[in-house]
Amino acid sequence: MLLPMAKRLLTETDQRLLWKLAWNFGFRGMQAIVKHKRRLRRGEFFPPFLYLSVINSCNLRCQGCWVDVAHPQEKIELDALSDVIRQANAMGNYFFGIVGGEPFMHGQLLDLFEAHPKCYFQVFTNGHFITLEVARRLRAAGNVTPLISVEGTETVSDTRRGRQGVLNRTLEGIQHAVDQRLITGVCTSVCQSNIDDLVSEAWVDRLIELGVLYMWYHTYRPMGPDACPELALTPDQQRRVRQFVVRTRATRPIGVVDAYYDADGQALCPAATGFTHHISPQGDLEPCPIVQFATETIYDPRPLAETFNRSEFLRDFRQLAASHTRGCIVLERPDLLQELVVLHEARDTTQRDTALAELAAMTPRPSQADPEHEIPEQSWVYRLAKKHFFNDFGAYQNPIDPLAARRGKSQVGER
Ligand code: SF4
Repeated sequence: MLLPMAKRLLTETDQRLLWKLAWNFGFRGMQAIVKHKRRLRRGEFFPPFLYLSVINSCNLRCQGCWVDVAHPQEKIELDALSDVIRQANAMGNYFFGIVGGEPFMHGQLLDLFEAHPKCYFQVFTNGHFITLEVARRLRAAGNVTPLISVEGTETVSDTRRGRQGVLNRTLEGIQHAVDQRLITGVCTSVCQSNIDDLVSEAWVDRLIELGVLYMWYHTYRPMGPDACPELALTPDQQRRVRQFVVRTRATRPIGVVDAYYDADGQALCPAATGFTHHISPQGDLEPCPIVQFATETIYDPRPLAETFNRSEFLRDFRQLAASHTRGCIVLERPDLLQELVVLHEARDTTQRDTALAELAAMTPRPSQADPEHEIPEQSWVYRLAKKHFFNDFGAYQNPIDPLAARRGKSQVGER
């Protein structure tokens, strides 16, 4: 599949944008991971990739959304965002995931991209604000890939996203992005109401026809005030999605991203491995977007590198998660996460101030960890890339369970 994929990249995109992807994301991304590994060997920590929630506001109201989209607007101003980016650059980071809310509702977002030409930005968006004018500016900047979310057919999309006419507006955004030869991706939070329509060869082929160059299947997380746990996938369905991803990588000229499996198909949590951490719209340093608790912010009076390196809450989160599962500790053991939050007196970073109560009300459920049915990568390209640049960085080798340690039990976790 490598040659047909290369042909698409060479013929369907703007060469300047392809070069930015290769250098700012590809080469600098590899360097960031090498520097991360070196830091870990020195006993230091700074995540090689950061997710920045630039704003909480959104025009949609999705089921399972944990963001305070209906609350007063909070956003990280351009200067503060640029300061975070410069400090991360100093640690070797040049790739940033831009999330929200709906990032394009942040009035300075395009200025941010233009202000950091050496960086690469992946924007998680519903596509509704990608007008022709916005797409033209993204092309001019050249360092942005829009990852546009599609949550189902027309009817399912409206139900999933709590508004009317959602899919058509999203498809318009995709068309503007593709017309400007942007490296465009489509993602889906796979759940009960869209798995049959969107985890299918017909949908993948349609995306290829539309000019979409990569896709990402997230697994639905029943979070937030409208969690809809009935939408969550069963272990069989999660396995089916994994199998489909592995097969699509080897049989279709489209990239397929995932953040939950290594080359051998072993599950992992990118927050537990320290591969990524998240900065909330209020500037809080969180393990990941759905763990809405923090003890530090980007506004603390010390360098960001020191804040990450010395955060006991983030360190203990990584250790706790790695001690109990290779999957998602939020889904599998919300009780332990609750205990950790209380232990560190971590702040509830939501405006609704109900994140701890939501955690307490969660029913433990299976996540991506499925040791009996691991599905290794079929494609040698993904095997090689994951073997060297996307694995667990040793996080699951003898992690120290911080809760057990404090209870005076044996140090090494019971996973
Ligand atoms: S804690 Fe769960 S949702 Fe967060 S990064 Fe890990 S697996 Fe993903």
